Amino acid sequence: MRKQSRFAPDTFKLRVRKSATGRGLFAEETIPKGACIIEYTGRPATLEEMARDDGKYLFWTGKTTMINGNIPSNKARFINHSCAPNCEADGPPGRIFIVALRTIRAGEELSYNYGKEYFDKHIKPKGCRCVKCVRMRRNRV
Ligand SMILES: [Zn+2]
Repeated sequence: MRKQSRFAPDTFKLRVRKSATGRGLFAEETIPKGACIIEYTGRPATLEEMARDDGKYLFWTGKTTMINGNIPSNKARFINHSCAPNCEADGPPGRIFIVALRTIRAGEELSYNYGKEYFDKHIKPKGCRCVKCVRMRRNRV
């Protein structure tokens, strides 16, 4: 059994590859429910970025602190939005970790819900391409 504190990323094998929405981050081994998978890292956002608050990789880490995750070392930036996600973003103040909401099998794409505000602004206008929404649209026709 793995024993670890809740917010310490484990060393699961992950891989960036093509997904339905461009590129995504995939599990290469089974990840147990509740496991801390990876930290979402970045550089401190600029005041301008905080004011606009519309970038894909911007993440609030506190009431007045934000990071910009668009840096090469941040593999977690490839995790796509899903309306039926298998992960969630969580963490102590100032940091963001991606945690498994359920058991994730090898080969599955990691996803978390980007939140209503981001969804309405950036995803809804183009049509969400997550597994749940694609299936719903398919069933309607
Ligand atoms: Zn969706």
